Order: sequence, then structure tokens, then C-alpha cells
Amino acid sequence: MSTADNFTGISDQAGNVVDSHTILYSVIGDPIHHSKSPVMMNRAFRETGINGIYTAFHIKDAQLPDFVAGVRAMGIRGVNVTIPHKLAVMPLLDEIDESARAIGAVNTIVNHDGRLVGYNTDGIGYVRSLKEEAEPNLAGKRILIVGAGGATRGIVYALAREGAASITISNRTVQRAEELVLAFEGQTDILRAIGNEALREACGEADIIINTTSLGMHPKIDETPVDASWLAPGAIASDLIYNPMTTRFLAEAKQRGCSIHGGLGMFIYQGAYAFEFWTDRKAPVEAMRSAVLDAFSAGR
Ligand code: NAP
Repeated sequence: MSTADNFTGISDQAGNVVDSHTILYSVIGDPIHHSKSPVMMNRAFRETGINGIYTAFHIKDAQLPDFVAGVRAMGIRGVNVTIPHKLAVMPLLDEIDESARAIGAVNTIVNHDGRLVGYNTDGIGYVRSLKEEAEPNLAGKRILIVGAGGATRGIVYALAREGAASITISNRTVQRAEELVLAFEGQTDILRAIGNEALREACGEADIIINTTSLGMHPKIDETPVDASWLAPGAIASDLIYNPMTTRFLAEAKQRGCSIHGGLGMFIYQGAYAFEFWTDRKAPVEAMRSAVLDAFSAGR
């Protein structure tokens, strides 16, 4: 790489070049040091030759307003927001995109010359992963979601735009599923909430069953949200969890004759959308995936 390249902000494949043109990006959360986003996003900048660098900041609740002021002051171009700041950051921004407003949470900030706009890429990231890795056409599908926590809302928002025939939400605490259905009233009429007693029948009727509970996540890998014998062979079983990559739910569903779809793609594609919003360039998805897989196998 020549010196001139450095000054035009071009970086090489060996490493990101940091110079006075480097644009800063970051992820914030509490905790944050387990995050694979820096490894994934720095690989994306390297792969595309963009002179950017992506860091993780451990921001506590009380520091959030100062952090947002810092984004404006330092011209940080893009920020990913994770637990616990996805709601609290919203009033600190200048504009909230329609998707983030409907979902009620922001996971991506784009800094347009000091004007901070909040987006949510979790649900659209999940759906892009589902379509590219499991089922390209979601129109007419009967979808069952088991779980009604924070991640579910974005997924419902994105699935409802794909022409699904029905989306049934089951949750241990049925009121939470009912609240979710109410939150989408007026936007879609294909949602319904059910309790655990109706779960078995709903499993048998579904084309796609999505686990959005934390059941089966490391270290409690023996847990599973449903009995696999309830699933229709040939259905798609999908799990948001990616640690482990194949949960007990997915392993048993595969034995039952279902196709399976794990949660890593959702993580990759939520980052891919953020990258595309920030840079207007197509995200190098396969390089991002391999960076995350390498980090997992190296235990980083
Ligand atoms: P959350 O808001 O804490 O919701 C947890 C959900 O799990 C709730 O529906 C809860 O039911 C249910 N649950 C927890 N323990 C249960 C039990 N013992 N029996 C039955 N249900 C139980 O979590 P979240 O943010 O939505 O995340 C959910 C999962 O998605 C996590 O495993 C997370 O790692 C994963 N995730 C993955 C990605 C990705 O990029 N792949 C992104 C976001 C989240 P109640 O309402 O009854 O408590």
C-alpha cells in the first residue's frame, strides 16, 4: 500500500489502516466485552476497503446522554446499540425511523452530519437470514413464534411484511404475547396470542416454528421450548439462539424431519443492514460470518 493510498482512506487486506481520515463506528452496551460485533464489522471494513474502525464501549445507564453528545461532538458515523440501551437511547436522537418506532427499540444509529437517526435492524436481519438460509418465500406461510420478549417484536414487524398467512405467538406469560398482538393492532390482522395449553396443536399446524425464548441457550443447553414430536415433519424449525449454533430444539427438530435454521444469520444480517445504512455499500456477508465463526472457535 502506498502512502498516497493512506491519504485517500484506502485500507488493505492485511489490516485496517488508521489515519486522520479514519471514520469511527462503535457498539455500546452493558455488558459489552463478550460482543462479536467489533470482529465482524472491522472485517467488513477491511473487506470493502473502507477506512473505518469499529470499537466497543462499555456504557452504563447514567453515561448514555454523555455518550450521545460524544457521538455528535466526535462525528462517530454509526453506532450499534445493545442491552440495556435500546429504549433509553430513543429520546436522545433527532429522528426515529418508522421500523424502530413500530418495534419500540433502536439498535442502530446513523449520524447524518450531526443529525442522529435511529433504526432497528434486528427483525429485518432475522427475516433476511431466514429467506436466504431456509425459505425464500414466506408468503402464505403459517408461522408460530414461541416467546414474546424484546427480540420478538422486531421479528413480528418484519414477518408481517412478508405476506405470511398467520403469525401465532405463544408465551409462558400469555399476557406478554397478548400485549404484543395489541401493539400491532391496526398494522396487521394476522396475529394471535395463545397460551401453553394451545401450543401442541399450534406446533402441528405451523410451517415455520421460531424459538425466541432463551430456552436452550448456553449454559442451559438441555432446555427446549417444545416437544419435537409435536412438529410436522417437513416444517422449518428456527432458533434465535446461536450459542450453541445447534440448540436441542434444532437437533430434535432435525431428527423429526424438519429443516433447521440457527440464530447466527440474524446476528450477521442485523450487522449487515447497519453496515449498509452507514456506508451505502453492500455488506460482505460471508466474510463477516467467517470472522464471527473464527472468533468463536478461537474463544475470543
Ligand atoms: P427476553 O426479552 O428476556 O425474553 C425472553 C423470552 O424467553 C420470554 O418470552 C420469556 O417468557 C421466555 N422464557 C425465559 N425463560 C423461560 C422458561 N424457563 N420457560 C418458558 N419461557 C421462558 O429476551 P430477548 O431479548 O427477546 O432474547 C430472546 C432470545 O433471543 C435469547 O436467547 C437471545 O440470545 C436471542 N437473541 C438472538 C439474537 C441474534 O442476533 N441471533 C438477537 C436477539 C436475541 P416470559 O415472558 O414468560 O418470561
